[in-house]
Amino acid sequence: MPQTKFILQENDIPTHWYNVVADMPNPPAPVLGPDGKPIGPEALAPIFPMSLIMQEVSAERWIPIPEAVREAYRIYRPSPLFRAHRLEAALGTPAKIYYKYEGVSPAGSHKVNTSIPQAYYNKEAGIKRIATETGAGQWGSSMALAGHMFGLEVRVYMVKVSYEQKPFRRSMMHTWGAEVFASPSMETNSGRAALAADPNNPGSLGLAISEAVEDAANRADTNYALGSVLNHVLLHQTVIGLEAKKQFELAGDYPDMIFAPCGGGSNFGGAAFPFFADKACGKNVRLVAVEPSSCPTLTRGKYAYDFGDTAKLTPMMKMFTLGHDFMPPGIHAGGLRYHGASALVSQLYHEKLIEAVAVPQTATFQAGVTFARAEGIIPAPESNHGIAACIDEALRCKISGEPKTLFFNLSGHGHFDMAAYDKYFSGSLEDFAYPEDALQESLANLPQVAE
Ligand SMILES: *Cc1c(COP(=O)(O)O)cnc(C)c1O
Repeated sequence: MPQTKFILQENDIPTHWYNVVADMPNPPAPVLGPDGKPIGPEALAPIFPMSLIMQEVSAERWIPIPEAVREAYRIYRPSPLFRAHRLEAALGTPAKIYYKYEGVSPAGSHKVNTSIPQAYYNKEAGIKRIATETGAGQWGSSMALAGHMFGLEVRVYMVKVSYEQKPFRRSMMHTWGAEVFASPSMETNSGRAALAADPNNPGSLGLAISEAVEDAANRADTNYALGSVLNHVLLHQTVIGLEAKKQFELAGDYPDMIFAPCGGGSNFGGAAFPFFADKACGKNVRLVAVEPSSCPTLTRGKYAYDFGDTAKLTPMMKMFTLGHDFMPPGIHAGGLRYHGASALVSQLYHEKLIEAVAVPQTATFQAGVTFARAEGIIPAPESNHGIAACIDEALRCKISGEPKTLFFNLSGHGHFDMAAYDKYFSGSLEDFAYPEDALQESLANLPQVAE
């Protein structure tokens, strides 16, 4: 019988995270403060613990994972690697398809890989409370869980459109003891200003970030936590790719191409960067970030300095961006509705070391349903993006006859996203291509930075 699951033991949980900066051909572009000058670590100290700031700026290849974090990871790690025999048969492709399933975490996605260490380091630094934002609710629930594990209070600003689309994500956060507000809220200046301008503002990740950062900056006992984009977040997520490499050894195989959905870039970086280490040594492996065509940050955005949030409270990062006041359509892959992307992913894409593709919403659900009918697991709408691109490649292999080895990161399950599947089944799900003039309008508001 051909093997379906490649399972590691708890003592195979990585002891170190992998830092891709050590293998990048050029150092990361500096992060800039409001005066346009590079900021030092102390500029971030009001909202992050120094241990995470040092990870943010580190160029060390390997960073040790604290024992308490490895201990907490044991609840669900190592996650399984599957060979998708049934999907291969359903597609009739000669390609070999593998996927790593991060939906085994208690919150149902990869985000717990970073909420655990972020809660741990904040607790170590004497912090009592975390303020954060969430889009689809996956990050908020992961932070609520980890905050509870390490004895921190958690307040979540949840993008209003998702707050309304996904009430049970909110219930999950309440179950783990967090407070949740729809963003824009009346709790912060940024929220009140947005509501004064438009009482029906549906919210965006950029705006929810403004609210959470403002909350954290105003209270000494409170820090801010971000579920993606930042270097330390991608670093924590490398447990995915590090485990996958061991699992590919068990399988006696190695991927030709890796696909992962890309919002802020954390599950893509987590799955792909450990393989980038091999690529940097000459191995031929293609790394493909997959984004929605309605929020096409890498494929249609501009590589420029921009703010991480709408109210311009964050430092400026050089990244692919659609503009900090870009308002993405209310698509169901809420985790992919961010105007920017990780600076590390952006720089590697700019240097043509990784690839990106954009997929329309209905095609992603079609891929998700094909996957669910073959493999059983119902994927998150975000994960469907990676699946869609992987299936497209498997179908190209069918035409060319090439038996490529394809790997995608199944970043989470879709059990709280069934309303979106219902819409797909009833034919009422729409495809939005973001209009070029609206895009040019938000890009016109990028900050002017002398480089
Ligand atoms: C948040 C999320 C994503 C997208 O975010 P990244 O930072 O790009 O990983 C993808 N899949 C799931 C299930 C998510 O929760």
